[in-house]
Amino acid sequence: MSKEVATAVKTICTQCNNDRSRMMDIVRAVQEQFSCVSDEAIDVIARQVSTPRVEVESTVSFYTFLSKTPKGKIVIRLCNDIIDRMNGFDVIANAFKQELGINFGETTPDGKISLEHTACIGMCDQAPAALINNVVVTDLSSDKVRSIVKTLKETGDPQKLVSRLGDGNNANDLVKAMVHNNIRKKGDVVFAFSEFTPNAGLEKALAMSPVEVINEVNTARLRGRGGAGFPAGMKWEFTRNAESGEKYIICNADEGEPGTFKDRVILTELPDRLFEGMTIAGYAIGAENGILYLRGEYAYLYDFLSQMLNERRRQGLLGTDILGKKGLNFDIRIQMGAGAYICGEETALISSCEGLRGDPKNRPPFPAQEGYLKNPTCVNNVETFCCVVSILDKGAAWFSEIGTKQSHGTKLLSVSGDCQSPGVYELPFGITVNELLKEVGAPNAAAVQIGGPSGQMICKDDFNRTICYDDLATGGSVMVFGPERNILDVVDYFMEFFIEESCGYCTPCRAGNVLLKQYLEKIIDGKGEPCDLEVLQDLGETVKTASRCGLGQTSANPILTTLKNFRSAYEALVKKSKDGMQPSFDIQAVLQESQDIAGRKSVHFS
Ligand code: SF4
Repeated sequence: MSKEVATAVKTICTQCNNDRSRMMDIVRAVQEQFSCVSDEAIDVIARQVSTPRVEVESTVSFYTFLSKTPKGKIVIRLCNDIIDRMNGFDVIANAFKQELGINFGETTPDGKISLEHTACIGMCDQAPAALINNVVVTDLSSDKVRSIVKTLKETGDPQKLVSRLGDGNNANDLVKAMVHNNIRKKGDVVFAFSEFTPNAGLEKALAMSPVEVINEVNTARLRGRGGAGFPAGMKWEFTRNAESGEKYIICNADEGEPGTFKDRVILTELPDRLFEGMTIAGYAIGAENGILYLRGEYAYLYDFLSQMLNERRRQGLLGTDILGKKGLNFDIRIQMGAGAYICGEETALISSCEGLRGDPKNRPPFPAQEGYLKNPTCVNNVETFCCVVSILDKGAAWFSEIGTKQSHGTKLLSVSGDCQSPGVYELPFGITVNELLKEVGAPNAAAVQIGGPSGQMICKDDFNRTICYDDLATGGSVMVFGPERNILDVVDYFMEFFIEESCGYCTPCRAGNVLLKQYLEKIIDGKGEPCDLEVLQDLGETVKTASRCGLGQTSANPILTTLKNFRSAYEALVKKSKDGMQPSFDIQAVLQESQDIAGRKSVHFS
């Protein structure tokens, strides 16, 4: 490595105070400057932050946006999630390959442009879409791909691709994105902009004691909006009551569940409200520091969000003696992710904030006792913090009037797939799937995936069920599939997604999902036997119960829920032979290769 490069890497480390826990910032900066984090750069980083080399290397190798080998200055990441596949991914992928003259996973011979696949980038409402460095390009077509590649070759500047700006703050000078918000329905709790006075919730909270604030959130029975649905007030109480250590608030803005994009819209349109909610939480639990963990795919919002934080500091809403309250100190920093779905799991997210691989941690201890850097930590989702503001402003009683008896308030749903109006809908808990499908314009829906791949695939018979914690719980993703879709192909894609995203720590998840996919594909290929359905069921249950974290515990859901709700799709493919049996071992296929080599003629057994 040249002396200049070593000096530049050292400078990056120094700018991050040679702090090992800032590893994500360091390796992201090195990647951006040198298009890779090389072995030599890893050596320098390890020395600078006084950590074993292997720790730096394992962080670099974990995240998809980081690489030890050089990539082009421009990296095109084409989203390959199921909605993009339904909207013409193959055509777009071929157009990129043709225009660039390379395959996926390769870099152009001049070393300038790399082409990659990536899992959901949070743009299912405007798919097919891609990330080009930090620039989002949406609603792709073959013609657009031709023009994109031409512009990149001519200018080398992805920002030049943004010829039209999206709505709302997407057009802000610090965002300048072609992304559209697609807010289709504004509800009473989060999107009722005009009903709320900025910071009124925070002012009311500061007029109460921290314990009273927690009581208000408990009385409202606010449950986490990220998917797990844990009572928010209870989490705050546990963190507040933890005896030792400095307390932390973390906002999980790592919505990586395919089909989810509603946090993107909150981050774009309501960042002030989000930061207000985090500040209320900081006051309630006694934290002076908050972290917004922003997924790498949303890096295009970084400057805008940073400016909003600066503005709040200027207004005395962050920093010391907030709103003149002596001794009330709280500030927020942004931690960028680097492309890893598992970091949406709260303990994996904490690992990532600490600069490590996004590995989930064993529980107990729970984050409320021992989280970020072993300190008591409360992790809530973007939407949850926004609900907190409304509750403090309008009161727990008002909030409890919305929704159902057990699920109070509204839910933001990211709807995509076979519907007329994909986008974000804020609806009260208790709405039926039928009512939702009417809203989004999907009269012919044959299947709906509620809660992303880790949720459930339901059929028409279940469309009268309700979206709420006691029935169909969801973190926000709703994918609609019309009658022309092959449900088992969708399931196959979901399994591929989980195999790709598993951190590999535990065997049931690492190996079990691969086996599940193999059995599924055997069935899709028409080689399955009736007993394979039992194998899928048993294996799926095992993966679900024996895996360590939420990813493994839900990764078999695509198979388990379709075995239950779309059994006929499986049964139609597993045909019995004349004697009621079908061999599980295809001897003809196995013998074919050796017969070809030996030049022998095939003998068919029948
Ligand atoms: Fe990693 Fe999967 Fe185990 Fe979770 S369940 S720890 S993602 S291998």
